Amino acid sequence: MDTTDANLAAVRKRIAAACTAAGRATDAVQLLAVSKTFGPEAVRAAAHAGQQAFGENYLQEALAKQAALTDLDLSWHFIGPIQSNKTREIAEHFSWVHSVDRLKIAERLSAQRPDHLPPLNVCVQVNISGEASKSGCLPADAAQLCQAVAGLPRLRLRGLMAIPAPSTAGADTHAPFRALHQLLIALRNQGLEVDTLSAGMSDDLEIAIAAGSTMVRVGSAIFGSRTAAATAPQTQH
Ligand SMILES: *Cc1c(COP(=O)(O)O)cnc(C)c1O
Repeated sequence: MDTTDANLAAVRKRIAAACTAAGRATDAVQLLAVSKTFGPEAVRAAAHAGQQAFGENYLQEALAKQAALTDLDLSWHFIGPIQSNKTREIAEHFSWVHSVDRLKIAERLSAQRPDHLPPLNVCVQVNISGEASKSGCLPADAAQLCQAVAGLPRLRLRGLMAIPAPSTAGADTHAPFRALHQLLIALRNQGLEVDTLSAGMSDDLEIAIAAGSTMVRVGSAIFGSRTAAATAPQTQH
């Protein structure tokens, strides 16, 4: 096994163990491999190890990677902050967007989603820890934004996404994930058919799964440290 193979196997094992510990089915959580800053060869290695869904934060970098990997049947998820002048290319080149945090962006994505593609799967990003500098709508605004997104013709609302603040000593690391899960349940109670909680990364996927995550976004535990990748000579941005 090469490194990517071994790392992917280890991450899948962590996910399965976390599901079992939480009394959930071992296939209840999907793995999104976050390949930002890594080149197409890294994605190809992960694909050969059976990984199909990849997350990207930077549009130009993602488009270059996609162009180099057209021979593979991959599913691409956009997970980074969205500027409104980037929505057309995102609507054209991704099957999921996890980082919708305002109506204007959702409306543009819906209007620009090409007719020959299925509706774009969307998660509304919530600033669950209430950090001033973070993307995401306020928890109090999530339900209204989700209702609006659900009404847009070329989007399919799937659920919620969050990046909880790094935990500080003594803080309850589970609390933001539980709050996110409660928001999802509230959406269901309002009649929205949401099935996705996009939460958990390399360092906290067990906590996220314990709190009901259905999709973990894992980068460094699969591909290695991004600082190392950024200085590697074959990696270009
Ligand atoms: C980079 C990134 C990840 C992956 O983070 P790791 O700690 O490397 O697993 C997940 N989600 C988002 C939104 C990211 O930007």
